[in-house]
Amino acid sequence: MKPLPPGSTIGILGGGQLGRMLAHAAQQLGFDVAIYTDEPDGPATRVAARTFIGAYQDASALADFARRVDVVTTEFENVPAETAEALIAAGARVAPSPNALAVAQDRFDEKSYFQSAGIDTPPFAAVSSQAELEAAVAEIGLPAILKTRRLGYDGRGQIRLTKAEDVAGAYDKLGAPGILEGFCAFECEVSIIAARGVDGSIEYFDLCENEHASGILSRTQMPAHVSELVEVNAREAAKRVLDAFDYVGVLTIEFFVIGDGSLVANEMAPRVHNSGHWTIEGALTSQFEQHIRAIAGWPLGSAKRVADCEMFNLIGEQALQWEAIAADPSARLHLYGKRDARTGRKMGHVTKLKLR
Ligand code: AMP
Repeated sequence: MKPLPPGSTIGILGGGQLGRMLAHAAQQLGFDVAIYTDEPDGPATRVAARTFIGAYQDASALADFARRVDVVTTEFENVPAETAEALIAAGARVAPSPNALAVAQDRFDEKSYFQSAGIDTPPFAAVSSQAELEAAVAEIGLPAILKTRRLGYDGRGQIRLTKAEDVAGAYDKLGAPGILEGFCAFECEVSIIAARGVDGSIEYFDLCENEHASGILSRTQMPAHVSELVEVNAREAAKRVLDAFDYVGVLTIEFFVIGDGSLVANEMAPRVHNSGHWTIEGALTSQFEQHIRAIAGWPLGSAKRVADCEMFNLIGEQALQWEAIAADPSARLHLYGKRDARTGRKMGHVTKLKLR
């Protein structure tokens, strides 16, 4: 494929903050950005050249979007894989491919896929009734976590099962087909972010270490406090997944690091990721620019880290402290332009650089 020339239009499915930061990066390289979303007035729609409002199932609105853009990507993984297929049928080039989206959307398929690729996961079982949940608990044991198979994110759609009494009625509480996962007593959580270009070349960002509060990412440290071997193993796992899907774009895999230094995969995101926001200031090429380069058929940039850093999410009312953060010379403030600071909502982030 010939690289898309500047002046081409990048189409993005989804109007959230990841779309907004992708749009900033695309614009830096001379591209126009068009957003397709079912919600007006999102963070990305306010920075894009054009916005198409439509349902993700609306074939004729999608076909219209496909005609007006040169490549389509997505900023959230819950875009139905059928949406990506409808865009392809309408003549659009879509990256990453619908099958990578489909696998990442279903926690059971995703963990089955990891296992088939030789990547360790916590023990897991699909459950679609209370009886199946009880059988899975008998096999996997407690503590365990019951999660919805689909549409869960930021710790939503999860129930922790610690003791036998927690199991009674838990399937009804979940209210949807689920997966039971053995609880993994991890030392820390890390994520690898890597990009694959149309020519199959891969660039890896350094592994970062993540802390969550109430299931939502709160802090990312770069670098992660892990051995060289953990870093090598994470890259190897990312390469396997990227090559197997003939993937184009940025992919993230989240892992638990357990006591003996081995890695257990939790989930993958076929997109740029919250734990990669540090790359805007901390790497030669940001994850956002890297993704745009990949899907536009450009050479990938260097993912080399230029500074150690710490990234904090501004969740809900934390964003009201923007004035104090703006006065801190070591802090780089990013606000997503969301209209109201609801509890649990990602309003922005701050990256603190540790200059060498
Ligand atoms: P998830 O939505 O699957 O990324 O889960 C959100 C967070 O819950 C993770 O980042 C972990 O901190 C925790 N968690 C999820 N699954 C497990 C597990 N099997 N064992 C231990 N902690 C987990």
